[in-house]
Amino acid sequence: MTGNWASLTPSSRSRLLTVLAALTTVCLTVACREAEPSSSAEEDPAYLAVIVAVFAHPDDEIVAGPALSRYAWEGHEVHLIHLTSGQIGDANTDIPRGEVLGAAREVEARCSAESLGIQEPIMLGFMDGNIATWADLPRIRAALRAELHRLQPDVIITWGPDGLSGHTDHRIASSLATEVFQETWGEIPPPSKLYYAARPAMSESQPATAMGDRATVSPSLITTVIEAPDFADWTHEAMHCHQTQWNPRVTVDRLFESIQGLSEGRISFRLAGSRVGYPASGSVESDLLERIDL
Ligand SMILES: [Zn+2]
Repeated sequence: MTGNWASLTPSSRSRLLTVLAALTTVCLTVACREAEPSSSAEEDPAYLAVIVAVFAHPDDEIVAGPALSRYAWEGHEVHLIHLTSGQIGDANTDIPRGEVLGAAREVEARCSAESLGIQEPIMLGFMDGNIATWADLPRIRAALRAELHRLQPDVIITWGPDGLSGHTDHRIASSLATEVFQETWGEIPPPSKLYYAARPAMSESQPATAMGDRATVSPSLITTVIEAPDFADWTHEAMHCHQTQWNPRVTVDRLFESIQGLSEGRISFRLAGSRVGYPASGSVESDLLERIDL
């Protein structure tokens, strides 16, 4: 990082303070971060992993935000692919739906990725709400496959088959990402793992739809929990980027508090596919890169 404190934007200052706070916490609790194998990406590029999140619309990435930020901060290459530009959206804006709103949401997507500290998002530009038509599926699959083959991810993250909200676009994103993961990759190194972002039900006895209209899964299906409370504020900042969706601001803050209150900074995943084995029965991974030979 170059420049001095005065030259930094408020966003950059906030991020720097968050990193310093995280470093302080880590150093206090585990002697220092350099001793941890998981931090070796910072010192040795050979340990760098490529993680690609595949979602349908700008703002979907929020579901995994703190985990994405944590891996990017640790030095790994974290990408985000959106199948659509969110041209229809839940628009809380006067911007006309269609291409104009899509352009605005692409700006919001870039803002969000910057706040999360990940790579600039890859926007495939298919029409929001329309990607599930049979006519479009081959084109979308081919475009997604091409990007994934180019990026050669070690890990792919996407929605679960429920799409969390049941949105057709979410479920298609999950299905296509799963399909490409499972394919034979030929000469290209295939991804090692496929994860579904998942919201665990509070208990086995709780109905799967107990969180309003948001699907939850049985806690027994959660294979992986990423502890990333130090990066929650980055996700909060990213949420504010999506102004066309979550306006006025107070709504965003309440939603963030709700999410944080439910997850306590833990992001849960279901390991949906693996070429490097699965965690032992009954155990839960704490690292998306577990068992991957980088
Ligand atoms: Zn969405």
